[in-house]
Amino acid sequence: MSPVETQMPFRCPLVINGEEGSSSSGKQFQRENPADNRVTVTSAEEGTASDMRAAIDAARRAFDTNAEGWTTNHKIRERVLYRTGELIRANAERLAAIVRLEVGMPIRQATGHVAAAADIFDFYAGYAGKLYGESFFQPSGSMINLIKEPMGVVGLITPWNFPLTQTARKVAPALAVGCTLVLKPASYTPQSTYELVKLLHEAGAPAGIVNFVTGPGDVIGVEMVRNPGIDKISFTGETGTGKRIAAEAAMNVKRISLELGGKAPFVVFEDSDLDAAARAAVFGMFRNAGQACGATTRLLVQDNIHDSFLDQVVSLTKAIEVGQPEQQTTDMGPLVSKNQENTVQQYIRTGLDSGFSLVTGGNKLTGSFFDHGYYVNPTIFDNVDNSSALGQEEIFGPVVAVTSFHEEEEAVELANDVPYGLVAGVWSGDYVRAMRVARRIRAGTVWIWDNYAQPVEGIWGGFKESGVGRELGPYGLDDFIEVKQIYTDGTGLATKPAYRQVIKD
Ligand code: NDP
Repeated sequence: MSPVETQMPFRCPLVINGEEGSSSSGKQFQRENPADNRVTVTSAEEGTASDMRAAIDAARRAFDTNAEGWTTNHKIRERVLYRTGELIRANAERLAAIVRLEVGMPIRQATGHVAAAADIFDFYAGYAGKLYGESFFQPSGSMINLIKEPMGVVGLITPWNFPLTQTARKVAPALAVGCTLVLKPASYTPQSTYELVKLLHEAGAPAGIVNFVTGPGDVIGVEMVRNPGIDKISFTGETGTGKRIAAEAAMNVKRISLELGGKAPFVVFEDSDLDAAARAAVFGMFRNAGQACGATTRLLVQDNIHDSFLDQVVSLTKAIEVGQPEQQTTDMGPLVSKNQENTVQQYIRTGLDSGFSLVTGGNKLTGSFFDHGYYVNPTIFDNVDNSSALGQEEIFGPVVAVTSFHEEEEAVELANDVPYGLVAGVWSGDYVRAMRVARRIRAGTVWIWDNYAQPVEGIWGGFKESGVGRELGPYGLDDFIEVKQIYTDGTGLATKPAYRQVIKD
């Protein structure tokens, strides 16, 4: 047992106005280890609507009073964000262990995940002092100043699958521009998120800037979305939840950005480097047990290379070591919960009932430690009809559908024939073709000759039902900025030509 594990169960408090506290309900909820469900990893406060209101009030006060110069002094914000990045690195081992314990993420992946979160803070720290606006002189000499202001109090709702980076992508740009915030983490990963909140305070975030409430989404999340004290909601999660949030937020014209589900196609043409393509595919298919919005879920393969490509993919898939997340050799861990395991097994049954060919996997793993976790073998179905449930619905697990195509036009049609448009991959030795297809696929990111690259300098976000808005890179700031015009007369005239429309002289 690692030194971090001796502290379990972690006690995850609420953090409101810089103070750690308990829920007004007096209740807690427990998070089990998905790799060993006999172990309680975290005991978190079950926040109530009234706790959420208190957190929103604290964030509102901090914003409206410009607490410690937060909204107007970019140097404070820059320092807090840089320090947070450094503190994440200094605590990397602890953070990776906690992510592993709450998510079931294999330790090699959890370690990379922590490093990526630190990079996001570095990147946005550099932006705090570079929020330039624009100026323009009218022919009259009057001046238009377009300035960037923080959107205000933002409510951030995050998922469990990559708890640190998903949170960092919202928190870092929101703080860089001078917002204050309330953060509601997924109930599967309260401690992973709380650790980050602690580091933000250690880095010098003034009281009330970062508030944190754990508890059920359908209680405290709903309160956050309805509460008029929140100016904007930034949500990552299921498309269904996102639609409900968008409908509710519309009632008071609350700004929203949504990062939702995906059903990523991976298009492989006959002239591809099949070895490189197979490796890229398997990485995208089974990273974090396929519990990733950008996971490769549909392999669209040109018919004349179908057999050879699938052989390579299956052989790499069979070599995946499914095991305990703490082992350095483990490539794939358990699913996050019994619920998720049931969902995945239901999709496997649907695939079998539909008559698709099960090429590998398709079973729950049992015996020894497997009996205490939610382990399902990496699974591939071949000859899948793209219009079936397996071709259309987000499974969020290690189940992949293979479909053949004959010509480029058909590949593009299949790739686009889903309600989602988050990410896609294109493989061809002919760059002109790869670029042509990439331009025609309706997705926020298309990778050519790579998979699941998410540079902080780039973007992340979806077309269609995969979302609204963009995270990461400079575009990630726009989600938290209001552009204001300040217009200053430059004529010095008491009577302007336009006034004569109302005042004769
Ligand atoms: P959910 O939509 O179930 O939950 C996401 C968050 O919303 C959680 O914090 C949850 O709280 C909260 N929530 C639940 N119901 C409500 C509500 N009515 N009002 C407000 N908040 C609510 O998604 P998952 O956590 O299961 O995450 C997986 C999903 O996230 C997948 O569909 C995946 O594709 C998507 N995702 C998208 C990404 C992207 O960038 N596009 C990235 C990562 C994931 P609680 O946990 O308490 O229920």
